[in-house]
Amino acid sequence: MERRTKIVATLGPATDDPKVLDALIEAGVDVVRLNFSHGTPEEHNDRAETVRKRARAHGRQIGVLVDLQGPKIRIDKFKQGSIELNEGDSFVLDADCDPEAGDQTRVGIAYKELPNDLKRADTLLLDDGRLVLWVDSVEGAQINCKVKVGGTLSDRKGINRQGGGLSAPALTEKDKKDIKTAAELKADYLAVSFPRCADDIHQARKLLEEAGGHAGIIAKIERTEALDVIEEIIEASDVIMIARGDLGVEIGDAALPPVQKELIRKAREMNRVVITATQMMESMIENQIPTRAEVFDVANSVFDGTDAVMLSAETAAGKYPAKAVEAMDRICREAEKQRMTTRSDHRINTRFKKVDEAVALSTMYAANHLKVKAIAALTESGSTALWMSRISSGIPIYALTSHVGTRRKVTLYRGVYPISFSTNTRDHAAINIEAVDELKRRGVVRDGDLVILTKGDLMGALGGTNAMKILRVGDVAPPNGE
Ligand code: PGA
Ligand code: MN
Repeated sequence: MERRTKIVATLGPATDDPKVLDALIEAGVDVVRLNFSHGTPEEHNDRAETVRKRARAHGRQIGVLVDLQGPKIRIDKFKQGSIELNEGDSFVLDADCDPEAGDQTRVGIAYKELPNDLKRADTLLLDDGRLVLWVDSVEGAQINCKVKVGGTLSDRKGINRQGGGLSAPALTEKDKKDIKTAAELKADYLAVSFPRCADDIHQARKLLEEAGGHAGIIAKIERTEALDVIEEIIEASDVIMIARGDLGVEIGDAALPPVQKELIRKAREMNRVVITATQMMESMIENQIPTRAEVFDVANSVFDGTDAVMLSAETAAGKYPAKAVEAMDRICREAEKQRMTTRSDHRINTRFKKVDEAVALSTMYAANHLKVKAIAALTESGSTALWMSRISSGIPIYALTSHVGTRRKVTLYRGVYPISFSTNTRDHAAINIEAVDELKRRGVVRDGDLVILTKGDLMGALGGTNAMKILRVGDVAPPNGE
């Protein structure tokens, strides 16, 4: 059985070795993430090209996800590279400080508006919460702090305000340039960092379209404010990413597990895709096996219904990139065997809005109750396969399409697998046979198996799916049912 949950792996220096990249592909990576917080457009372009080349050599389809840096607020640099802060020390975040000249008493900040967003008694978390500063006063460009939790503070570490509420807009000038690069390298997905509202997503989509891109838009949920308007944000995007790193700093780590469950539930209910990200296999940056807690984390997100699990530094900069993917792969497969991951309530109380949606969901009802071997969705945009995959099931959904962009997009959908398919005939009986033969050739069905096929009377038309057909492999005539 193929794994249903998809694996996103971040590329970086550790995966530039061709042997490592091949091992990653062999271990089953579905989507690669190019993290635009680091590296040059040329590097990202090269990585995207190399991955596609190697994927082709392996006969695989791999999606490319461009992740924008966004307005991550950071301190500038220290003269010495880092300092040591102790509890009770005074320390100044100073918008007027020379960006290269931080010292034991102060450091510069790139986001000059920060002093205006803060007041006495605010709590600031630095370096993903490792250090905690308490704001004593704000005087002009200077934020005077007391150290609550000390530690080593080094160049360019991130700053978050507990509770959120920093004003930086989601798309920076750098992001706007990077969106053009994303369009040029034909990214399949574009992730917007720190969106506050649906408009941030709409703006990214507009810029991407103006640049000629066709990527699906991912909203990274990593700000407190985003949770207040979460439905609008989900509605505006194609995918959400539960960005547990920054989100956990803003809302507090203990609030993350219930938020993760709720976000996954909402995204699926609204026919959107969801990625669970950050620190899933963190200890594997250094170690060859995950901790028990990490094993549970990956399995639990599969039980929650996530489409994809993501690796960040584990693959980009870790010692064992392929081992991290292999570990995720085996944990997902085992979790997927559990009945709780295939049981579905089939949206008994919802009203379908479109004909193709109704066909997709009827297919899932029939498939789960008739126990068919596979579903073949002849699709243009992939939306039929997307709707199908919102229903829990153990039955594989093959998206048969002539569009390479669609094949790459479905790499992220849980339980959906891309198949290149085109036909010259308009004869429906002939198309049925060609489609089923394609599944047979791939060894996913055999004579006697039941398959459900969906398609439109007008093949080639978007949103045209209006038929489902139940076929027995090897029979010319339709089956009598069981
Ligand atoms: P990042 O986003 O890795 O780009 O920071 C993910 C997160 O915040 O969890
Ligand atoms: Mn983040």
